[in-house]
Amino acid sequence: MIMVKEIYKFINDIAPFNSSFDWDNTGLLIGDMGQNVSNVLVALDVTKEVISEAVDFDCNLIISHHPVIFKPVKNILNGSIPYLAVKNNLNVICAHTNLDLANEGVNKCLANKLNLKNIRPLCKSNRLEYNKIIVFSPPKYENDIIKAMSENGAGKLGNYSMCSFISDGTGRFLPESGAKPYIGEKGVLEEVKEVKIEMICPENRTKSAIKAMKAVHPYEEPAYDVFKDFSVYKEYYDGIIGDLEVPMDSIKFAEFIKEKLNCEGLRYTEIDQKIIKKVALCGGAGGNYIRDAVKSEADAFVTGEIKHSDILEANHSGVMVVDAGHFKTENLAIDNFKNILEKKFKEITFYKSEVLIDKIKYLHSRFS
Ligand SMILES: [Zn+2]
Repeated sequence: MIMVKEIYKFINDIAPFNSSFDWDNTGLLIGDMGQNVSNVLVALDVTKEVISEAVDFDCNLIISHHPVIFKPVKNILNGSIPYLAVKNNLNVICAHTNLDLANEGVNKCLANKLNLKNIRPLCKSNRLEYNKIIVFSPPKYENDIIKAMSENGAGKLGNYSMCSFISDGTGRFLPESGAKPYIGEKGVLEEVKEVKIEMICPENRTKSAIKAMKAVHPYEEPAYDVFKDFSVYKEYYDGIIGDLEVPMDSIKFAEFIKEKLNCEGLRYTEIDQKIIKKVALCGGAGGNYIRDAVKSEADAFVTGEIKHSDILEANHSGVMVVDAGHFKTENLAIDNFKNILEKKFKEITFYKSEVLIDKIKYLHSRFS
């Protein structure tokens, strides 16, 4: 039997969860890594209809793009999605911004759907930022501290873990009244041999690494520093830019997108006399990539959500905008994701949600 953790690990290999945005929430968000998987339902979102569908298909794992728990929750009450998932013994893995960036992710699927040629990343972003944590401790505690911090995200660089640098030095302190010093006496300036431990740590793991360090550190008030480390960061390529097989004017291009993505309707801006050849895109809520599209001299930018001010900026720079809707620009990646999972885990049946449909409707004129 395949366990939840094996599927989690495979997804982590193709779309590493630690490449998600800091504000995102991805990974196994509900359930138990050690459970055996029956069948799997793959969906863009987890709704109560999707939960019923999973139960009908005898699935005990849902893999969704959008996080089932996004903002911190203060309670999990009857009727809420997490409550229903747990009540129905469902595990839920969410692959969101890590899937957007993946090789076979949302943007790549969208570019393939539009038959873009010569595709390349739209921009480079530094998703995972690092800090340098420096801790001072008595020499015999260095191994415990390095181990505790490593287990909580510090000291990992590429294929190396527990990376640290240790140097010897002298610490001085004066315990004042009320102090309970590990070494020395109240009111006497103390001088002790100490080691300085330096480790890098991703920004999003820094708090837990410090908490773990404090738990094993012998001092009442451990001395430590945290600095932003500009020399270490992980780079990701985001969005896609490529060339249309057949250049066309902006109205034809809007029609082309509508047909390719099977949209009932879409929003677009018309740029007079413009022939669209170079197309930038970012599925879902990608409006803030408009500046990258302008910088890359794209003729058009395709996304799923865009703000008025971003539309004005694009228009000012002569870049056509197509807003084809969040659902339509992302749901196509779910089929691809399901195929990849099916190929890997042949003994499991994967279903794609059929109940999840685009909720946006378009009001058409009676005379059109
Ligand atoms: Zn989305």
